[in-house]
Amino acid sequence: MAVADLRPTDEALELRERVRAFMDAHVYPNEQALDREDDAADALVGELRARAKAEGLWAPHLPPEAGGSSGSFLVYAHLNEEIGRSLWGQLVFNCQAPDAGNGEILWHFGTEEQKRRFLDPLVSGEARSFFSMTEPGVPGSDPTTLQTRAVRDGDDWVIDGHKWFSSGAEGAAFGIVMAVTDPDADAHHRASQIIVPADTPGVEIVRAIPTMGHRGRGWTTHCEVRYSGVRVPVANTLGEIGEGFRIAQKRLGPGRIHHVMRWLGQMQRAFELMCSYALERETFGGPLAEKQTVQNWIADSAAEIQACRLLTLDAAHKIDQGDEARVEVSVIKFYAARALHDVVDRAVQVHGARGLTDETPLAGMLALARGARIYDGPDEVHRMVVARRILKSFAAGEPWRFE
Ligand SMILES: Cc1cc2nc3c(=O)[nH]c(=O)nc-3n(C[C@H](O)[C@H](O)[C@H](O)COP(=O)(O)OP(=O)(O)OC[C@H]3O[C@@H](n4cnc5c(N)ncnc54)[C@H](O)[C@@H]3O)c2cc1C
Repeated sequence: MAVADLRPTDEALELRERVRAFMDAHVYPNEQALDREDDAADALVGELRARAKAEGLWAPHLPPEAGGSSGSFLVYAHLNEEIGRSLWGQLVFNCQAPDAGNGEILWHFGTEEQKRRFLDPLVSGEARSFFSMTEPGVPGSDPTTLQTRAVRDGDDWVIDGHKWFSSGAEGAAFGIVMAVTDPDADAHHRASQIIVPADTPGVEIVRAIPTMGHRGRGWTTHCEVRYSGVRVPVANTLGEIGEGFRIAQKRLGPGRIHHVMRWLGQMQRAFELMCSYALERETFGGPLAEKQTVQNWIADSAAEIQACRLLTLDAAHKIDQGDEARVEVSVIKFYAARALHDVVDRAVQVHGARGLTDETPLAGMLALARGARIYDGPDEVHRMVVARRILKSFAAGEPWRFE
């Protein structure tokens, strides 16, 4: 496929310009106020969301029939490059993780009743949600080992288990909980996804776990959650019973790409800050921009960012064509997570001590970048997936083709 096919259409370009103008006018100037994560910041988020909605820039990950403003992965990739430049962009445009992924699986697998009760408030922005899969006692990289149990009692599930890193659970209206519903089934049919309203008796948010020194608030928390005798109707099962893994795959594939699209924005912002500061700051009789080490960082970052962009757009295009793009998604997940970390780290280094302060967004970006190499599957697991699939193809006598 020609690279030109991946360029934004005129319509996508127009939309991207509008998103960029919105970010310039309303998000960047408010970033420091939003970073305070206090009552005033919450009120500001509400105002900015109302404005984004009024301007028709709302929920760009969903098609219009689901209440969104886009629907094509490729268009969303181009928009997310802008939205992702600030941590707050995704929340302002109502395409934040984990709600975006939850919204997508509710849209694809939810019953009419589930859509009405749970998807509609997500899309309208009245409610937030969380995705509760990872457990402290077993490796999140291998979710076939999950221990949280849902036992059927008449028309109800009774859920018992212990989760952590349920992002955004503080203040959320409901969670989608991955629980073992048939322990005797084969490894990939043991679990189901069950929608659990957060106010169901037995749901306990134990704490928001501080990560890299940050506790977070509401949407930015990563919570430890206990489920003790939590009773919800079997009708809250998302999709078929035992299909939890298939749905998780459906959720995590696009979810990973959504993350990477935003990282492209983060990388480009860090890159711009690095280049500007390199030209401005002088040491040993000349600007940093004249030092070869700094030039190498700039050149390497330029190459890595563009490689990540093209890999991401290619995967988005393939998903739009109905391909699951499992190899492409895993390649970009580990490759871009590393590139994000390295580009931001170089930008911090060029800024010296200033890079660690709140005078630039870089320190916050670096803390978030570290997590990128772990969440939604650590680098090592994605490399394993890529290698296994490619080798399987060779073993079957079909060389892997780069298309
Ligand atoms: C910021 C953040 C947000 C998150 N949000 C959510 C959320 O909303 N909902 C949710 O359910 N979970 C969430 N998670 C959890 C995340 O998905 C898990 O941390 C991840 O799947 C890894 O699981 P683990 O932490 O148990 O590490 P483990 O599975 O115990 O792995 C530990 C390490 O072992 C190595 N490793 C694992 N497998 C292999 C292998 N095959 N080969 C070589 N090395 C390997 C890797 O280096 C890995 O980092 C979040 C995590 C973070 C950091």
